[in-house]
Amino acid sequence: MQYVSTRGGVQPVNFEQVLLEGQAEDGGLFLPEQYPLLTDRWDSLKELSFRELAYEIVSLYATDIDPNALREILRDAFNSFDEADVAPLVQINDLHVLELFHGPTLAFKDVALQVLGRLFEHVLRNRNQVLNILGATSGDTGSAAIAGVQGRDGIGIFIMFPDGRTSPLQELQMTTVREENVHCLAIDGSFDDCQRILKSIFNDIEFKRRASLGAVNSINWARIMVQIVYYVYATLRYNEPVTFSVPTGNFGNILSAILAMRMGAPIRRLILGTNENDILARFFASGEYKRGKVQQTLSPSMDIQVASNLERFIYLYLDGDAEKLIRFMEEFAKRDHAVLHQNGEVDATINAQRVNTDETIATIRKTWERFGYLVDPHTAVGVAAATQAHLEGPVVCLATAHPAKFPNAVDQAIGRTVASHPRLDELQERNARKIRLPADQNKVRDYLEEHVIS
Ligand SMILES: *Cc1c(COP(=O)(O)O)cnc(C)c1O
Repeated sequence: MQYVSTRGGVQPVNFEQVLLEGQAEDGGLFLPEQYPLLTDRWDSLKELSFRELAYEIVSLYATDIDPNALREILRDAFNSFDEADVAPLVQINDLHVLELFHGPTLAFKDVALQVLGRLFEHVLRNRNQVLNILGATSGDTGSAAIAGVQGRDGIGIFIMFPDGRTSPLQELQMTTVREENVHCLAIDGSFDDCQRILKSIFNDIEFKRRASLGAVNSINWARIMVQIVYYVYATLRYNEPVTFSVPTGNFGNILSAILAMRMGAPIRRLILGTNENDILARFFASGEYKRGKVQQTLSPSMDIQVASNLERFIYLYLDGDAEKLIRFMEEFAKRDHAVLHQNGEVDATINAQRVNTDETIATIRKTWERFGYLVDPHTAVGVAAATQAHLEGPVVCLATAHPAKFPNAVDQAIGRTVASHPRLDELQERNARKIRLPADQNKVRDYLEEHVIS
């Protein structure tokens, strides 16, 4: 499989390059040249375990990874999950939930990042290269990225976070990791300071090259690719087309559903749920992409006003017309506002819903009372969006985090503490380790100079 950039400015590249580069040199995002169809062997796929299905799908895209190595990477990655079938489908009356939170950090990002860390290790070893991952996090992504690469050969990871401003649980999930290749940098400043430092360090091309710096953000194609697996896996459990309800931030998770559809998975509709940060809900209803102010909500991993993966959707929507895409993206970069079209709804398969804080709390409570099932606030946005959308046929809600990760919201909804997880309880007993640094790019760079793997 070869990959092209959404901005049309690079020659086609192979999977290894897409994995290591993350973003294309012309500023675009990578997409495969084709989406292989699964339809002619659909029935035989029903027999496969999650791991076997993962191999069938990933091997269509990661064609330059040795098949035996790939099988082993996937097997090993999914062994880190608590559940044998990795993403169990829970059905309680008319509530259908696909649980994606059984990985090491109890959030859906583990599904892709457990695979990604192992893919990096494999490819770097073959090429005799190293990689130092630099990232900034306000919460969830950092711990899942760390869990994906901790202890792996040839990889260092440096995660900046605003000291004292992430939730105590999220901080512990990062700082209690003992492996030497993990560096938690507690920055004396805000999340914006962390992002500013990140940008300035990545903009220094000479340093970036010398220190073998890279990122593992949500635009890496390999993450989108792995996530296709659970949509196909869930769809195979039904004898009729399924609708998925997806709580959305960076448009990564739901993009994988769109690509599963392209591969022939019988998906009827997609419900896109946002919290008060509703740029995507407004976009899909109107065709207008207009940045708003970021608001803090109970679902912090969706507190985003620019969805980095939307560029891939727009490219597909424009049938690969890179010039039109560039015009749209440049317009948005300049004015925080761009119009895709004037006719209202963007895509008949995508039903976008905004869910506010009160509805989120009410949904956690109602889902508990009616079904005895506890959802985290992100999942609750998807469940509420499904109720609001009121569509025909089975609707599968994606559970993107374990409720015990967000005890404040869940306790507030239920009125007492009901959510817990032994792995989170155990964190309190462990030694935490973090490096405190001022919000100064030179100090962060000095630290990197001294600690990167070379
Ligand atoms: C990251 C995250 C999301 C949003 O996923 P996107 O791919 O950014 O749309 C939703 N829920 C949880 C718990 C997350 O960590």
